[in-house]
Amino acid sequence: MSEIAFQCNLCGICSEVCPFFIATGNIKYGAMEKIKAAQKLFKNEELNEEELKTIFLCTRCDQCHKYCPLEIPISTVIQEARAKLRKMKKVPEKYNTIAQAIINLGSPMGAPREKWLEYIPKEFKPKEKAKYVYFPGCWSAIRYPETAMASIKLLMKMGIDFTTLNGKEWCCGLFLIDTGLLEEAEKLAEKNTLAFESIGAEYIISECPSCHDVLKNVYPKLFREPSYEVIHISQIINENLDKLNIKKINKRIIYKDPCPLVRRNNVIEEPRNIIRRIAELIEYDKKEWDALCCGAPAGVKPLYPEIANKLAEMLINEAKMKKSEIAVGCVFCMHHMIGVSREPRILTLSQLLLENLQ
Ligand code: SF4
Ligand code: SF4
Repeated sequence: MSEIAFQCNLCGICSEVCPFFIATGNIKYGAMEKIKAAQKLFKNEELNEEELKTIFLCTRCDQCHKYCPLEIPISTVIQEARAKLRKMKKVPEKYNTIAQAIINLGSPMGAPREKWLEYIPKEFKPKEKAKYVYFPGCWSAIRYPETAMASIKLLMKMGIDFTTLNGKEWCCGLFLIDTGLLEEAEKLAEKNTLAFESIGAEYIISECPSCHDVLKNVYPKLFREPSYEVIHISQIINENLDKLNIKKINKRIIYKDPCPLVRRNNVIEEPRNIIRRIAELIEYDKKEWDALCCGAPAGVKPLYPEIANKLAEMLINEAKMKKSEIAVGCVFCMHHMIGVSREPRILTLSQLLLENLQ
C-alpha cells in the first residue's frame, strides 16, 4: 500500500487545505509535505525533526483527500508512516501511554470498567435482546456521561426498542488505528463485534462520529462483516422527530460537521434538520464536506496542544462572530472546544434537543 504515496505528482493542491497549514501558516505542516516525509521514510531515508513532526501533526481528517485530483488517500499514507515509525521505536512516548490505556483498560482515559455503567440513567434498564444497541464510545460514556444520557432519554421518549452493552463495551480502537497499531485494533474489533452480535441486534446506534466510522467502515476490514448495520444517533433521531414535542426557540445555533461523519459517511442533512426544528441554523463558512477539522484527534491534541487549540479558537471565534451557540455532532470536538473556551455554549445534538422538548 505504501506505493500509493509515490503516485503523488507533488501538485501541492492538498497543502493549503490542511488544517495544520491553516492554523500555522507553515507550509511544512501542509498535506503535501506529509506525503514527502512519508516517501522519504518508505525509502528508508532518515527524517529530520520537522519531517517527523509533520507526520504526527495530522488528525486524519481527510480534507486533503477530498481535494487531491489523484484521490490519494493521504490519511492512510500517514497511518502507514506512523506504523513504520512505531516499528522503528520513533513514536512519541505519549502515543504509547494512551495506547496502553486502551489495550489494558479499554479506554484512552484508562478508566475502571465500572465507569462504563455511569452513563446509563436510573430509569433505563438494559435488556438482553433488542433491535438496536446504543454505543456511546469512550468520550460520551466516561468523560461526558450527560451526553450519552441525553441520547438514551431521547431514544426512550421515541419508543425505540434498544439496549446497551451494559458495561461490556470497549473503546472502538480509533487511536490504535490512527497510530498504526492495527493488530491491537483487530482484537477490539473482534471483542466489540461479538458483543453486539450476542444481543442479536439489527442496528448499532453510534454516538461518536469516529466510533461510527470505525464500526461501520473499519471493523469489516479488521475482523469481518457483522450481522448488523451501523447508524448514527442523528439519523435515528431525525427519522423519529415527529414523535417528539419540540419547542422552537429564538436562538442561533451553528453546526460543526464532524470530519468522519461528513467526509467518510456523508451524514450531512440529518443533524441540520434536527437543529432547524429547534432554532435558526447558522453555517460555518467551511461546512459539510469542506468543514474545518477541530484539530484534536489522532494524538494531535496531547502532542501539540497550542496548534490544536488554534483550530478550536478559529471555530469558536467564527461562532461568536455569527452570534451563535455551537451544536456539535461529536463529543470529542465538544471536549476540545470546551477546553479552549466556555463561551459560547457548546452542546451535542441530543443535549440540545432534550432540553427543548415541551
Ligand atoms: S488528513 Fe487532514 S490533517 Fe492529515 S494531512 Fe490531510 S488535511 Fe492535513
Ligand atoms: S493533491 Fe494529491 S497529487 Fe497533489 S500533492 Fe497532494 S497528494 Fe500529491
